[in-house]
Amino acid sequence: MAIDYLRLSLTDRCNLNCIYCTPLEKKGFLTHDELLRHEEIARAAAAFVGAGVKKIRLTGGEPLLRKNIVGLVKLLKAIPGLKELAMTTNGVLLRDLAGQLREAGLDRVNISLNTLNPATYERITGSAALEDAWDGLMAALKGGFSEVKLNVVVMKGVNEAEIKEFARLSKDFRLSVRFIEFFPTNKRSVNLAHALFTTAETKKLVEKAYGPLTELPPARGGGPARVFKLSGAKGKIGFISGRSDYFCGSCNRLRMDCTGKIYPCLFSPSTHSLRDLLRAGAEEAVLADYIKKIFLVKSDYKKDSPSAGNIEMSSLGG
Ligand code: SAM
Repeated sequence: MAIDYLRLSLTDRCNLNCIYCTPLEKKGFLTHDELLRHEEIARAAAAFVGAGVKKIRLTGGEPLLRKNIVGLVKLLKAIPGLKELAMTTNGVLLRDLAGQLREAGLDRVNISLNTLNPATYERITGSAALEDAWDGLMAALKGGFSEVKLNVVVMKGVNEAEIKEFARLSKDFRLSVRFIEFFPTNKRSVNLAHALFTTAETKKLVEKAYGPLTELPPARGGGPARVFKLSGAKGKIGFISGRSDYFCGSCNRLRMDCTGKIYPCLFSPSTHSLRDLLRAGAEEAVLADYIKKIFLVKSDYKKDSPSAGNIEMSSLGG
């Protein structure tokens, strides 16, 4: 499988404190010097593109907390050969930024929103920002992005009663609603392991409410989601079954965190880092050669690697 997709985490900070994601013990945030600067991120991204990457997704932490995110998007969008620039955000700061990000060249946006109920939102995120996140979603839908997706991590006893309401959004809006199986990753989310609500259970509830789902052909490089449509719907419904499915064989992605550490797999330790090379002034071709070596070790890691089980999605970005 060609590796052509980079998930790039821009910050370890988040404005939410989600029960399934943020670590229980906070070690303190990275210092300014530990973080890659905009110019370093852009040089690293150009080297990834030189090594064959075609799509970059900005994530975090919360990527919209990164200072001058609009300027950074512009820098990245200018990289020759980059076909698509996307972002995953909780949407809380998106209302005022969606238009500027689109103008700066952001192609697509995924918004993580797990409930439409203010009390449940506060329970999940520790924050009363549901209205902001909803406004962010609406701003994205009006913003002219090529696609807007809504990511819903389904958790038993937390939000599974809202599956019908979320599915309904795919009927009313040109929106891809994606139900994601909850995946215990760090110590905090392991405490929630009983909350797994499988894709099969979610799909059954959607079809009971709205009739049969029709599966759509997989998009090229479309990732692990299986995508469906409800009859007469403007949007789509996707399922990402990280627990009950196994898609390592078709994985086309690498991850880099905001300090330049590279992870060949979500379940691997970081095996390489670009920061020292970047700070030593390495040329793009040298960086690209270094990255190509990482492609070779990717298949050493799998979802059930011995190193799995200690991932901080909150800084690596899922
Ligand atoms: N702050 C941004 C956001 O909320 O979209 C980007 C970072 S967040 C870690 C990226 C994605 O990872 C979100 O969609 C989040 O729901 C998902 N995620 C985090 N922990 C997860 C878990 N244990 N199981 C499944 N998805 C998870």
